[in-house]
Amino acid sequence: MTVEERKELAELLFPNIKQDRDYYEKKYPERNLKEGAMVTRYAPSPTGSVHLGNLLSAFADMVYARQSGGSFYLRIEDTDQKRMIEGGIENITGVLHDFDMIPTEGYSFGGDYEPYIQSERTEIYQTYIKDLIIEGYAYPCFMTEEEIENIREEQEINKTKIGIYGVYAVDRDLSLEEIKSRLEKKEDYVIRLKSPGDASKEIEVVDCIKGKMKFPEHNVDTILLKKDGTPTYHFAHVIDDHLMHTTHVIRGDEWVSSLPLHIQLFELLGFTPVKYAHIAPITIKDQETGNIRKISKRKDPWFGVKYYDENGIPIDALHLYLATITNTNFEEWYLKNPEKKISDFTFSFEKQAIGGTSFDEAKLENLCKTYFSRKSGKEVYEETLVWAKKHDEEYFKLLTENKEDMIKFLGIEKDGDRPRKDIAKYSDVKEEFSYAIDSLFEKEAYQKFDGEKTYNTDFIQEYVDNILDLEVDNDTWFSTIKQFATDHGYAASPKEYKASPESYKGHVGDICEAIRVMITGRLKSPDLLSIMKILGKERITKRIAMYKAYKEKND
Ligand code: GLU
Repeated sequence: MTVEERKELAELLFPNIKQDRDYYEKKYPERNLKEGAMVTRYAPSPTGSVHLGNLLSAFADMVYARQSGGSFYLRIEDTDQKRMIEGGIENITGVLHDFDMIPTEGYSFGGDYEPYIQSERTEIYQTYIKDLIIEGYAYPCFMTEEEIENIREEQEINKTKIGIYGVYAVDRDLSLEEIKSRLEKKEDYVIRLKSPGDASKEIEVVDCIKGKMKFPEHNVDTILLKKDGTPTYHFAHVIDDHLMHTTHVIRGDEWVSSLPLHIQLFELLGFTPVKYAHIAPITIKDQETGNIRKISKRKDPWFGVKYYDENGIPIDALHLYLATITNTNFEEWYLKNPEKKISDFTFSFEKQAIGGTSFDEAKLENLCKTYFSRKSGKEVYEETLVWAKKHDEEYFKLLTENKEDMIKFLGIEKDGDRPRKDIAKYSDVKEEFSYAIDSLFEKEAYQKFDGEKTYNTDFIQEYVDNILDLEVDNDTWFSTIKQFATDHGYAASPKEYKASPESYKGHVGDICEAIRVMITGRLKSPDLLSIMKILGKERITKRIAMYKAYKEKND
């Protein structure tokens, strides 16, 4: 076909398109950003519920754009209308809000490059397709599904590359007359790329994460526009990333094999190529088989994003975990820098794992514990209150009624180099600090106690009545309880006791243990004196009596 014929063909196929490329190039001008600023996009398809892998890519988009002073935008890729799920789009925007990953611009957030949803950009895609047709890089293909299926079968039998290329691309060189007559017959058609590639040649691609990769040139006449005139992902993302001036496409590595096509499209369209960064999927060691596999909706409860909210995992702690997956050196940095926030860390593609990163529940838990340990009692209280309001109304009420006490309890052992690390999620607060609220403690009725011993309540009550002074500091308190111990035939230290067990009834630690069990219902707790100070003598006495009653009932 001559250029004139191709122009006629383009007009024939897209009479509705009145603008040309220049119109859109002007409408969406270059961004005014400083050197090195990265423009990233989170570009989900609303075809399923949002999962941890999606959060990971949105997180990476966000941090790279933020740290470079660029922009992170949301683009909805809804070209596959058949696979769309109801509420899928609202779910995506809702998750970004809930997980504090607010884009700088994008669908539902506004911005200069609207519309940020592919279904509203059909005219733009068709404008560029028209141009490719004129250039001779795209053509209408009338092959039926049956014909394509037969070719596929043949290719499978012959073990040759699957697709429409070379001899299989039968509509590649149809004459204008032939096309016209088929259009008149109302035959369905798609627009295919007329790929100029030669698969015997290699191209080299540098991925920001995976480094240098070599591929054969793309030589398949891939579909760019479907029968209904809407684009495929391949074509749409190239147009959008160009017009929205994306600098870095950060996406799942299932797209690596499409890179030769994408790069070819950028070239044929005369666009400056974007940089690609392909993220490896999150994997997990399968409990049953022991094999490493991709994370799965069906098998892994933490796959869906609901899990984090329902279980009370703080969003900031989840961000910490996503940061450790994003950069291999993040965790060490975070643990070494108690004063720093994620935004103080500089992420780099070089520190991104090339293979899959394994989901590590223990690591997530440990990061959560570190997160809580760095919060004041008041902060933990306030965050827990927000969580409880949504998930545990009864506890919310109790927290509200016991605010002052709770803040004090949650603030125990927060100062110093080794703050307490017993809380990993908001729901743990209720579990770990049940003794902080009288009604919860009464309900719990020593069920958490897993020791063997029985403790002497009269002895402890005597100590409380005659010796215990809640106004003193820790050292003074400890010397008085040691004195009380030795006065009653107990050793002043475990060491002395071990040296001669027959000479003592026990040691001072046993007395502390008895008090702890009676007032907290457990063998381990934060600093005992702090707990006693918050409770006060009256509540301590009440709890000693509770313990006595419980023992009498159970013996
Ligand atoms: N819409 C594509 C998907 O959901 C996004 C790939 C991309 O980020 O370019 O898989």
